[in-house]
Amino acid sequence: MNKPETILSRSPVGWLTALLMLLCLSTPAWATMPDATAIQAAIDKAYADYKDLEEGANADYIPALAKVDPNVYGIALVTIEGNVYTAGDLKTVVSIQSISKVFTMARVMDESGPQAIYDNMGVDATGQVFNSIVAIEQYKGAEMNALVNPGAIAATGMVQGDSYDDIWNSILGYYSEFAGRKLSVLEDVYTSEAATNQRNQALAMLMYAYGRIEGDALQATDIYTRQCSVGVNAQDLANMAATLANAGKNPVTGKQVAKSENVPEILAVMATAGLYDDSGKWLYRTGLPAKSGVGGGIIAVSPGKFGIAVISPPLDAAGNSVRAQKAIADISNALGGNPYLVQPL
Ligand code: GLN
Repeated sequence: MNKPETILSRSPVGWLTALLMLLCLSTPAWATMPDATAIQAAIDKAYADYKDLEEGANADYIPALAKVDPNVYGIALVTIEGNVYTAGDLKTVVSIQSISKVFTMARVMDESGPQAIYDNMGVDATGQVFNSIVAIEQYKGAEMNALVNPGAIAATGMVQGDSYDDIWNSILGYYSEFAGRKLSVLEDVYTSEAATNQRNQALAMLMYAYGRIEGDALQATDIYTRQCSVGVNAQDLANMAATLANAGKNPVTGKQVAKSENVPEILAVMATAGLYDDSGKWLYRTGLPAKSGVGGGIIAVSPGKFGIAVISPPLDAAGNSVRAQKAIADISNALGGNPYLVQPL
C-alpha cells in the first residue's frame, strides 16, 4: 500500500519548509516582533480598554495646559522598518513639554560627546520632583540628570550657537528631523509658560551659581521654555521614539539624525529618570526607556524593535499621563517589547 504523500516525503525543499514552519511556531515572543495583525490588535485593545478611563487631571501650573481637552487620546507605534500602527486621535497637537529634554540632551551629546552630560549635571536619578530645588542643593547641581528641569535647562545652555536664534534653530531643526516633519511652537503655550516660569528661572540661576550653566542662564531658561512649547501629535512622537529605537536613524525618512554611538547613553538616562520619581516603577513594569511630559505625551523605546507614543493629557500625582502609561505597558508587554526578556542558552 502506498503511503500518502506528505510535504516531507516530496523533496529536500519540503523538509526545509517543514523546518521553517516548526521554527516559526516555536519562536519565542522576545525573538521577533509579532505580525502586523497582532500589533494592530494590541494597539486597538489598549485604545478600547482605556478610552473611557477617567483618572488623573491635566497639569494646571501652566495655565494653557489646563485648557487642553482631557479626552484627547492617540496611540502610534513605528517599527524600525518604518511600519506605522495607530489608534485614536493622531491629529491633535499638544505641547511636547519634558519629552523635549531627551532631544536637547541628544543634541548636546552629538555636539560635545556623552561625557559632557555626565560631567556637568550627571546621569543619576534625583528621587525628587522634576523642579526640585533640594535636588540641586544636595550635590551643587551635579549628581542629577538632563531630564529634570535644572539639568534640562543646563543642557539647553550647552547647545552650540552664536546667538539666541542660532541655538533655537539648531534645537527646532533637530527635533524636526526626529519627527520627520517641520515642527513649530504653540505660541499660546509658550506665552502662558513664559509668564509663569519664575521657578524655572530660579532653578537656572541656582545652576548658574554652581557653575553648571555658563553664559546667560535666563536665556537658557527662555529657550528651554520655547522647546517645551513645540507642538507634536502622537505620530510625531512615535517617529521620534522610533528613531531612537533604530540607533538614531529615522526609519520613516531614512535620515541618520543622532550619532548612533550616543543612543545607548540617551536610552540609559531615559531608563533612569524618564518618568521622574516613578521611573523605577515604570522600568519594573515595562523595561522600556521612556520619557513623559506634562502636556500628556509619553514616548517609549524598545531598542531594535519599535518606538511608541501615546498622548492623553490627564496626569497622575507624579506628573505622568495615566492612560499613556497603561496603554504603552500593555502594548509593549503584549509584543514582547521588554529588552530584558532574553532567551536562556
Ligand atoms: N515646561 C515644563 C516645566 O518646565 C516641563 C515639565 C514637564 O513636562 N515635566 O515645568
